[in-house]
Amino acid sequence: MSDRVLLVTGASRGIGAATVRLAAQEGYRIALNYASADTEAEETAAAARAAGAEVVLVKADVSRPEEVERLFAEVDGRLGRITHLVNNAGITGPASRFAEIAPAELARVLDLNVTGALLVAQAAVKRISTAYGGPGGAIVNVSSMAARLGSPGEYVWYAASKGAIDSLTIGLARELGPEWVRVNAVAPGLIETGIHERSGQPDRLQRLAPTIPLGRPGTSDEVARSILWLLSDAASYVTGAVLNISGGR
Ligand code: NAP
Repeated sequence: MSDRVLLVTGASRGIGAATVRLAAQEGYRIALNYASADTEAEETAAAARAAGAEVVLVKADVSRPEEVERLFAEVDGRLGRITHLVNNAGITGPASRFAEIAPAELARVLDLNVTGALLVAQAAVKRISTAYGGPGGAIVNVSSMAARLGSPGEYVWYAASKGAIDSLTIGLARELGPEWVRVNAVAPGLIETGIHERSGQPDRLQRLAPTIPLGRPGTSDEVARSILWLLSDAASYVTGAVLNISGGR
């Protein structure tokens, strides 16, 4: 039985689901968290199990503190303490100019992308860090190129939420280095997932593709491969890094 236990938040679809499928091939035992998409979550879990992995599904809204607590309690009970985390769940809210976004939408994005990510990271540290009796391990936060591009006219609040993820990554890496926990982030650019349609911009990738030096959007698998590398011992001297996966954009 593998001693590496990985939690991926927001893993029913998109980048999280691709991460689960690849992690299954690399021998992790996996906790797959999602919020609502039961069918997609079951399909992702089935693909990972077909690759030989032990997978548990935990439906939990990680923007809610009590749900984060329940998520970790369930994972503790079913797989034992996690050793690795991909802090991935995130939303943009509907695209608009900054002044037009409804305060409730803004709060919904920050509750998940910032507070949720912080609470998930906090619970993970209490399982992974040697200071809490853990074995050490690695965390990968899913940020965005938006943190540095700012997303003007689309979702400045989302960009700001990902700026918080970059700061979390730098601070936690420095705090936890002596406790055998490496903390890194990936900053995807324009990636083919349903997130663009959900923000009300189904043509976003096509419209912005000409601004990408490599000439095309990326895929979830291309992001997942970098995430798996950062989790692995192949990245044993990498911590506090924010890795652009953006085709040069
Ligand atoms: P996606 O296809 O929309 O998938 C989002 C995932 O997050 C789904 O599995 C969804 O679960 C889950 N989720 C949403 N709200 C949740 C909540 N409250 N609690 C738990 N899970 C929740 O998005 P994606 O493109 O893969 O994005 C994944 C991450 O990459 C996000 O942090 C996003 O900001 C970041 N990112 C994406 C891009 C891009 O171009 N795609 C670029 C930069 C950064 P359900 O389906 O069950 O609701």
